[in-house]
Amino acid sequence: MTNTPVALTLNAGSSSLKFGLFSIGATPVAMAVGLVDSIGRTPTLKASFGAGMPPLGRDLTPAEASDHKSALATALALLRQHFPEAQVAVVGHRVVHGGPSYDGPMRLTPQVMAELRRLSPFAPIHQPHNLAGIDAAVAAFPDAVQVACFDTAFHRSHPWVNDTFALPRDYYDKGVRRYGFHGLSYDYISGELNRTAPLIHAGRVIVAHLGNGASMCAMLGGRSVASTMGFTALDGLPMGTRTGQIDPGVIFYLVQQEGMTIDEVRDLFYTRSGLLGLSGLSNDMRALEAAGSTQANEAIDYFVFRIRRELGGLAAALGGLDALVFCGGIGENSRLIRERVCEGMGWIGLDLDRARNAAGDTVISTDMSRARVMVIPTNEELVIARAAKKVVDADSACAAGRPNVRNT
Ligand code: AMP
Repeated sequence: MTNTPVALTLNAGSSSLKFGLFSIGATPVAMAVGLVDSIGRTPTLKASFGAGMPPLGRDLTPAEASDHKSALATALALLRQHFPEAQVAVVGHRVVHGGPSYDGPMRLTPQVMAELRRLSPFAPIHQPHNLAGIDAAVAAFPDAVQVACFDTAFHRSHPWVNDTFALPRDYYDKGVRRYGFHGLSYDYISGELNRTAPLIHAGRVIVAHLGNGASMCAMLGGRSVASTMGFTALDGLPMGTRTGQIDPGVIFYLVQQEGMTIDEVRDLFYTRSGLLGLSGLSNDMRALEAAGSTQANEAIDYFVFRIRRELGGLAAALGGLDALVFCGGIGENSRLIRERVCEGMGWIGLDLDRARNAAGDTVISTDMSRARVMVIPTNEELVIARAAKKVVDADSACAAGRPNVRNT
């Protein structure tokens, strides 16, 4: 590695830190991606360094990742060991909430940081960890440009009817809105469709991001018009440990009749529900597919049923369907879930080719299928790296006296 400037990408979750190192030449290229998991408990480290290099995986000592700051230090030590001369010019951060106004990446200034802290109550489970990751990165790279990329930004294009709840108007004005999440993933898929299938990109597409967190997005011409997640990343599809859509009356019941506190209800909805709660076994789809028990099968049934329901609703929002795209850990890897989602969906134009699905092809519908079914591995880190590069390029353009690009 030379002194070429590089971009570091960080995605700080509640107990994990995903990181990536990208060269920022003409287009960003991943040099390394990795994950510190189970921060503060029994931490582990995984990393890969591109083709031909063996992936790395090891348990960490508790001190190596007791919090996000030490986890970042551990990740950086690994990156420095492999790329001793890399100069981190820019750090791109995944930030879950950008509020109603941020519709694209933002360079982090004290004012933007203050606004993001103000938004923390909207995403109390995620935003404080994202901000802790930013604080740790600023301390580690005080001279680097810091850029925030928001999960909500991609959905700012959706219309008012999918931005509001039927509450008195002043709640909307106070920010109680349907923001939508997983925007970095949808942004990547939209870009890939534009690159590889422009006619599809220009049409009516539903993307199913099915991972431990799961949501779906309806896109028209590559822009979000509706999504299954709302005010928080709790709405919509059932997830690994989250309920997905639930009648709010259940909250009243749990608090008033069962005597639960709001914190207990939140913990129940976020960490003990979804696939884990239904199966009583695991939040991991691989474990449920392998188990074959009645409860595991019912958890899968519910997951598939809700995806199919949302598919119909989102197709109605689009006025039809030209393509369904699967991504995320489950969407990219589980042929069973893809098959079950598409089963009997001829009425909406889907005709799955079982052999293509089993082979893991990119296009898994038959040639006769009215709507195309695709599998596209998502890459949120690359979206962050591209945004980070754009900011650095804009700085260079400014320094060279050329007009600035948009305030990235
Ligand atoms: P993600 O959050 O996108 O990393 O996705 C994690 C989810 O993907 C977990 O539920 C995993 O069990 C699931 N997953 C990963 N690989 C497979 C596979 N081969 N078959 C079924 N599910 C999988």
